[in-house]
Amino acid sequence: MPSPREECLFCRLVAEGDHVHSADGFVAIRDINPIAETHLLVLPQRHVDTFKEVAAFPDDEAARMLRFVSETADVAGLEDYRVLVNVGAGAGQTVFHLHWHVLGGRPDRERIVQALEATG
Ligand code: 5GP
Ligand code: ZN
Repeated sequence: MPSPREECLFCRLVAEGDHVHSADGFVAIRDINPIAETHLLVLPQRHVDTFKEVAAFPDDEAARMLRFVSETADVAGLEDYRVLVNVGAGAGQTVFHLHWHVLGGRPDRERIVQALEATG
């Protein structure tokens, strides 16, 4: 596993955050500014800037990442939910360490609209 980037917020939260769920190489945390009743972020320990670089994950690790996203929703007790990845600043990505949003329960529609509008 490559070493964490010192300047990266999510590398730091992988190492020392408040984890809702964790497994080999992955953690889930609560989003600090939720846009739904339940808003979790799945962070891989491996730092890549965006989803575009998902090929940097060995195949087994990429498969485990998807399973971990699904497990995280289970652990949070979500039956129906959304999984979202913002890819690039133009699509609303603000933290450049790949992460998966897991959104469940009542959405905060106003904040979702604001987030979409912010991307122009
Ligand atoms: P993005 O906009 O890059 O797809 O998502 C970044 C997410 O990280 C945002 O939903 C934002 O609220 C969340 N976030 C930013 N800083 C922190 C932090 O310090 N702690 C946590 N838990 N979430 C954060
Ligand atoms: Zn990072």
